[in-house]
Amino acid sequence: MIEDIGKDVFVRIQTDLLVVGDSIMTDRHHASNGNYEDDDPQNQIGGIIPAFPLSGWLRHGMEEVVHEYDGTACHPGEANANFMKEDVYERDLDDGYHEKGACTDNPKEDNGCVVFDLFGGFGGVPGKVMRRPIKFNPVRSSVDYTRGQAEGHYRRLNRNIVSRNADDNREPLRNAEVDAVANLDGCWHLSFREVKPEFVGLLAEGIDFLDGHKTDFMHQLGGARNFGAGIVDCHLINPLYNERELKRVFDRGKGNTNKMDEKDDQWAEEYRPAFVEALEDRIAEGP
Ligand SMILES: [Zn+2]
Repeated sequence: MIEDIGKDVFVRIQTDLLVVGDSIMTDRHHASNGNYEDDDPQNQIGGIIPAFPLSGWLRHGMEEVVHEYDGTACHPGEANANFMKEDVYERDLDDGYHEKGACTDNPKEDNGCVVFDLFGGFGGVPGKVMRRPIKFNPVRSSVDYTRGQAEGHYRRLNRNIVSRNADDNREPLRNAEVDAVANLDGCWHLSFREVKPEFVGLLAEGIDFLDGHKTDFMHQLGGARNFGAGIVDCHLINPLYNERELKRVFDRGKGNTNKMDEKDDQWAEEYRPAFVEALEDRIAEGP
């Protein structure tokens, strides 16, 4: 069964507003021709959402799934790191985590727990899933979903911190500019360096978990979650789809083909349960 799943899988991501801590890279220098104005609604600016916040968001969702199956997950922080909050790290270890890499004696030879296997992280081990950035573009017809791109509209938001004294008539004390993407809808492209049934099972479950907890503070995406940004609708696009079918998911004028419906049934009834079972077995083996 696993041989039917390609190395490339796609997660559909939709959000009204995203503000990521790591700055969004824009291509406005191309678009502007030197006349760029931040607040011009005619700006047709695309850019790139870096993979770091996306990766952390996914990993946290996957860790929660491992916990739900009574496993412990690799902590993302090096055990020997100089944490600012040592006691908090220790508390994490009591709460469903093991020290990063404690699950493997030799990371080059033995894969460790499923989270370590996927994300790697030390000893020159890259992990087996590559998380790519998402390239976004405001012009829908220019978006190539099969390359992990999205429709999205770059905006620069201005936040004014104003004086609280009535005499000052809300005089600004400070102005902060924030990069944001509005109305994001597209594909996040993940590539497995090696495809294992438990990886696909964990990805499917992790994405479902994130979708089910999208309004939880802990499981929103990016750095502005107190402001209603980063609430993400997400689902794993059926890995059985071919490229043409993947494109069709984003074509508002067309519905599923019969073949796609058939693949959805196969995925839900045969593939997904088998991969989740493989995940359960892997977690039961222990880290
Ligand atoms: Zn581990």
